[in-house]
Amino acid sequence: MNQKNLTDLAINPSCMEDYDPNAMSVMQARQFIQQFLNPLIETETLPLRKSLGRVLAADIVSPSNVPNHNNSAMDGFAFRFEDAEKQLKIVGTALAGRPFMHIVGIGECVKIMTGAVIPQGADCVEMQERVTTTVDENITLNQAVKLGQHIRLAGEDLTTNQIVLSKGHKMKPADLGLIASLGIGEVSVYRMLNVAFFSTGDELISVGKPLAVGQIYDSNRNTLFGMLSRLKVHISDLGNVPDDPKLLEKTLLEASRNNDVVITSGGVSVGEADHMKALLAQHGQVLFWKINMKPGRPLAYGKVQGNNNKSAHYFGLPGNPVSAMVTFYQFVQPALEALSGSDYRAPPIFNVECTEPIKKVTGRTEFQRGILFEENGTWKVKPLPNQGSGMLSSMSVANCFIVLNESIGNRETGELVHVQLLEGII
Ligand code: AMP
Ligand code: MG
Repeated sequence: MNQKNLTDLAINPSCMEDYDPNAMSVMQARQFIQQFLNPLIETETLPLRKSLGRVLAADIVSPSNVPNHNNSAMDGFAFRFEDAEKQLKIVGTALAGRPFMHIVGIGECVKIMTGAVIPQGADCVEMQERVTTTVDENITLNQAVKLGQHIRLAGEDLTTNQIVLSKGHKMKPADLGLIASLGIGEVSVYRMLNVAFFSTGDELISVGKPLAVGQIYDSNRNTLFGMLSRLKVHISDLGNVPDDPKLLEKTLLEASRNNDVVITSGGVSVGEADHMKALLAQHGQVLFWKINMKPGRPLAYGKVQGNNNKSAHYFGLPGNPVSAMVTFYQFVQPALEALSGSDYRAPPIFNVECTEPIKKVTGRTEFQRGILFEENGTWKVKPLPNQGSGMLSSMSVANCFIVLNESIGNRETGELVHVQLLEGII
């Protein structure tokens, strides 16, 4: 890469001093990518249910109180607190959705169900298990009560004009219910990102065709499909492309013409057939090629110019299947979230005891695959035995990454290590 390209790309000069496109630290690489992630601006309005997983383009403001009336938190009786010592006459019933429309007078009570509006005059509810029904539709309370007890107040969840969810929030199942509880049926979200990907390699064959000697099935395109499908993005699978500069060029330009992001796997190392580097020098700018991490070196990030002058973000993932997944989760996914306008934060990292010694050299970040498990009330992590960057089974079996930062060396059994969960509840 020439110096001009470098200056174009590296907006933040403070990062330039130790810039080495062949040896970036994980942290540095993340910071460098960050500079180019301008979020989308185009928006669309969607029916509420279609917005799951999408990013809000405007704050959701509550048009009313939730709940919008004082209501009972219990099945029981509503009455005036000052009458608590008296025998109370049942004068009616209030059900959820069917309010008692009269005033509760002195010495009176109303049978009330959970969610029913507290009738005028009443300021206290006692649950039905704590009253004794006497003759002639009267009750007495079995124990002392407090003013206002078992009443859910109007606006105690949300108040009118409150910002309920902010722009940038990614819609979760609870949000569908929350927004519906405000009576809102449509939301404004950012448009979906368009993401294209293809695999590179003469050896690759798609599933369904027989393998000749030396060929392998293309797994990366399938894991990429899976990882991208979990995010709300439009996916274009452009197939696997042989290590032929002309074909690679054609596919790369086509991909960058119509997409916000182009992801390739393979072909970014220094192997004889690795043409992506030369192509990108011609059609784009590349910020770095290698990262001090394992697995995941090489990894390229830059921009590629389509033949309609539109540029797309470019991620060149390593060909090794585990490396491709690790670099996707550590770099591509956060970048896609940022580009989508989402206020995404990296998943939390926990300190957990390791159950076996771990070999690790300092000077690079490692993302080992592990199994987090509970033993006698303590969470521990066991590194998987197969840590090879081609052994995809480790990603299927693992439930966490063991994240070993640059400064960390070998770990002994029982020492604390950082782990990052692969799956969440939602
Ligand atoms: P490369 O990064 O192209 O040098 O590839 C590194 C290793 O990953 C080689 O063993 C490739 O055969 C393998 N590889 C590359 N692409 C894929 C893919 N799409 N699916 C499975 N293995 C791959
Ligand atoms: Mg290759």
